[in-house]
Amino acid sequence: MKILIVDDSPHALVLAKARLSSENLELITADCGTVGLEMARGQKPDLILLDVDMPDMSGFDVCRAMKSEMDLCMIPIIFLTGSDDVQDRVKGLNLGAVDYVTKPFDGFELQARVNAALRTKHMQDLLIEHAHIDPLTGMSNRRALTKRLNREWSRVQRHGGTMSLIMADLDHFKHINDTFGHSIGDKVLQEVAKAITAQCRNLDLPARYGGEEFAIVVPDGTAEQATVLAERCRQAITNTQVTVGSQEVRVTASLGVADTADAPSTEALIAAADQALYQAKQAGRNRCAIARGAAEAPATV
Ligand code: GH3
Ligand code: MG
Ligand code: MG
Repeated sequence: MKILIVDDSPHALVLAKARLSSENLELITADCGTVGLEMARGQKPDLILLDVDMPDMSGFDVCRAMKSEMDLCMIPIIFLTGSDDVQDRVKGLNLGAVDYVTKPFDGFELQARVNAALRTKHMQDLLIEHAHIDPLTGMSNRRALTKRLNREWSRVQRHGGTMSLIMADLDHFKHINDTFGHSIGDKVLQEVAKAITAQCRNLDLPARYGGEEFAIVVPDGTAEQATVLAERCRQAITNTQVTVGSQEVRVTASLGVADTADAPSTEALIAAADQALYQAKQAGRNRCAIARGAAEAPATV
């Protein structure tokens, strides 16, 4: 795990590094608050040891700035405080730090407090990871998809370009459950998840949106370009099979594709992809449809 130590005293930096050096820890240092904040943004450490008393930007200011940034607010902070500064310690904890160590620090105490904070951070990482994974298929869930959609949306707003969303819904899936039972239905969902994931590039985010619905965030590309991926997914789903006794269970899917060109919000983008999906169902299922703005009817392929 990675620890960032921010302290304007070269002596304190050397001492902390010496106490914490171990094979499992990567130690990086900054000698002022401003650089420390920049390093936290760029390096995403697992823990920050933060001196309170620094000339350019105090540890409190760095802590306040970090707690207000989405990407940094979950990184635990241990303050390094002067031994007689009770008020500083209270203030630091109230600002969101997990702990403090008084200077001059005892090497063993520093190690113990750092290890305790890293254990908690590790558990926190695992919980966050699990909260974003669908347990049946192992792929991203709707929460992960929404988060990614919002992130890519902000990027497109800032830097331009076009992103797309693909929504997929299995055809007559209730019939598969009714005929073969729920656990075979589950196996089919797992195979479909694998088939969809195999078609995606690293930058795409395939997810189980809910029930027998899947979605893919395509961060760069128009709806027309994303439809090539949607069509590959449709074919891959058609080729999946689950064997039950002497029977092969097969499934098809209908897909809708929309891009950000006409959508004023992420909600509108989801609604447009959903609408195109509905059109694909209406046109006979097992096909893809593109949303082409409100004026025109979606085209099926
Ligand atoms: P359509 O082509 O119109 O989409 O028909 P459909 O039968 O797929 O749609 P409907 O919404 O009527 O049924 C969806 C079915 O998906 C019903 C529900 O029991 C099933 N389903 C949802 N989640 C799961 C799951 O986790 N496991 C299994 N086995 N079935 C699920
Ligand atoms: Mg459905
Ligand atoms: Mg369905």
